[in-house]
Amino acid sequence: MIQLYIPLNFLGVIYREIKQSLTDLEKMFQLLSREREVADAPDAPALDVPHGAVRFEDVRFAYDPERPILHGISFEIPAGKKVAVVGPSGSGKSTLARLLYRFYDVDGGCIRIDGQDIRAVQQGSVRRAIGIVPQDTVLFNDSVAYNIGYGRPGATQAEIEAAAKAAHIHGFIAATPKGYDTTVGERGLKLSGGEKQRVAIARTLLKNPPILIFDEATSALDSSNERAIQAELEAAAQNKTVLVIAHRLSTIVDAHEILVMEQGRIIERGTHADLLAQQGRYARMWALQQAAH
Ligand code: ATP
Repeated sequence: MIQLYIPLNFLGVIYREIKQSLTDLEKMFQLLSREREVADAPDAPALDVPHGAVRFEDVRFAYDPERPILHGISFEIPAGKKVAVVGPSGSGKSTLARLLYRFYDVDGGCIRIDGQDIRAVQQGSVRRAIGIVPQDTVLFNDSVAYNIGYGRPGATQAEIEAAAKAAHIHGFIAATPKGYDTTVGERGLKLSGGEKQRVAIARTLLKNPPILIFDEATSALDSSNERAIQAELEAAAQNKTVLVIAHRLSTIVDAHEILVMEQGRIIERGTHADLLAQQGRYARMWALQQAAH
């Protein structure tokens, strides 16, 4: 009896502790006091994207209500144009991208694609309209073909290979013993940063969405690789609406508009030439990067 009693009592303590931590979790969610999941209205229509124009109107956002991150961001990317965002780490650049992809809904203001508030349409239709080439591509522990084909369910092998060729990763894949059946990812063939980025570009080319988000890698690839990838990104961006989170200013001199962010606000904006003429933050960043080359 005693023997049985002690463990049960002990279990009771553990149970109370687990329950306590679950309660704390609940409290934490209450404190965050928001429905974090993005939910569609039952009758939400699909997004209609005849052009692909993107508009941020006085967008405000906080992950945690105690700590606002974006304080009223407004800009427009006309269909087929490129807008670049630069600024120090933590200034809110990636948050803009996450909101456009509707990982979260804005707290104030609104984001429109071709005039439609993205909160009022099916989130799946927003995500189908947007392709992301992230800083660090996460590959599934599956074949290269799967990892590229994921961009467009139902893609044929020929379409997958065409996308891989355009992203200049076909030669590399073809040279592996199992070719497109090679398993990649943590438990398979590990790809370099540049190779992973090429897989992401191939995936995006296959998806062929009207709107693209490029999150440039901060960790520098070697410069010939970097130039080649840049050329492939440029090719993928032809006639698309592009939001680029840039770290190397040389890649955005042709942007329709460059937004310089700091602590969730746009502190300077204009074309590359406008910003150099302003001789402010951007001009100093440019001079520093030029000196480093
Ligand atoms: P970097 O150049 O380093 O990628 P960034 O400008 O893209 O930075 P964001 O990732 O947009 O910055 O982050 C802006 C702020 O929001 C940061 O202070 C960050 O700590 C905070 N933040 C980002 N993601 C979350 C999250 N999921 N929950 C809470 N806070 C977050």
